[in-house]
Amino acid sequence: MDRPVRRPTAVGRLLELLHLRGPLTRAEATTSLGLARSVVGDAVADLEELRLIVVRQAAPTGTAGRGRPSPLLVPAPDGPVVVAAHVGVGTARLRVVRLGGEFVGELASLPVDRAAPAERTLTALAARAAELAREAGGPWAGLAVGTGGMVRHGVVRSALHLGWTTEPVPAEELLARQLPPGVSASVAHECSLAALAERRRGAGRGAGSVLVLTCEHTGIGGALLPDGPTAVGHALEAGHLVVDDRGPQCPCGQRGCLELFADGRALLREAGVTDTGDAALVQAVLGRAARGEPGPLAAARRVAERLGIGAASLVNVLDPDVVVLTGPLKALAVLAREQLESRLADSLVARVNDTRLTVGELSEPVLLGAADLAFDVFFRAPSNALGDTTRRTRTDAD
Ligand SMILES: [Zn+2]
Repeated sequence: MDRPVRRPTAVGRLLELLHLRGPLTRAEATTSLGLARSVVGDAVADLEELRLIVVRQAAPTGTAGRGRPSPLLVPAPDGPVVVAAHVGVGTARLRVVRLGGEFVGELASLPVDRAAPAERTLTALAARAAELAREAGGPWAGLAVGTGGMVRHGVVRSALHLGWTTEPVPAEELLARQLPPGVSASVAHECSLAALAERRRGAGRGAGSVLVLTCEHTGIGGALLPDGPTAVGHALEAGHLVVDDRGPQCPCGQRGCLELFADGRALLREAGVTDTGDAALVQAVLGRAARGEPGPLAAARRVAERLGIGAASLVNVLDPDVVVLTGPLKALAVLAREQLESRLADSLVARVNDTRLTVGELSEPVLLGAADLAFDVFFRAPSNALGDTTRRTRTDAD
């Protein structure tokens, strides 16, 4: 499906607010949404009727002349669930998330065979998601998947880690065919989802535009989430920013790309560790650096300095309010903040705008962002998604 473009109605906006902030009084919700009391009153009645929220009457305070206290609006404990998935190298990780943002049950996984056709992988993913949603109970609202490669409008191109390299894969459409009616399918870039989650729930909370940078053993990814109403941001090929045009050859065709100097491979090389391609080796070097071993610590600082050079150029071009480092880059930022910040300060934009450099706060940003993406689709037409086609709520019909 295409990215939703319509703003949610009052019903959807109230539900989104309760999903992100948790239980609120009706008065607090009215203030936060900036809507008329009568509109919020109608939305509350609709959501209660759809069994998406529970309204708890507050006990009277006993203060004469104050009227009834505002009732508490709580996401329904048996409300809808979504399945969030992150398809990585060799494995897809899945979690069920309930309305209100809580994980349900344990993390599930599914092997991903690089040699298998994309359709088979996505069919298996949809089947596993259906099992998990059934076990969790509650209406299943959607499945959202984060992955690497180049992802646009649900189509994945050039996902080397999945072996999807020859033809564009219409992943969203292929998943949608496997799902029951009313269950949405969404596919987005993993970094865009991490940026969405960090801005809504983590280190970018309250910021305008957020630039997220992350890395794996191989490669550096990024995403920019612009200021404005929440949406999935733009994934960036941040790792292929050229920092030295006389540097080593990159498989992308350029020379001296940032990721050749600042990803997990670069850290292992600087630390003198034989690289077997195992991501655990990167964590081990970061651990040794954190314990103060001079060799690994010096390696981390050299890599951080290169990363800072890249981050400064990205800030010059993109002008984010905050730069959030996640994944192994988070450990790097803790170990070598001075090197990173001094290089970032080379950026005129960072100096003038006082661009904040920080680390991710969420342990599962991609899965949380995927869950929020699936719920965003649901919030745009909650009554339709619940299979109730006979009635439309007052505000849905606006
Ligand atoms: Zn490159």
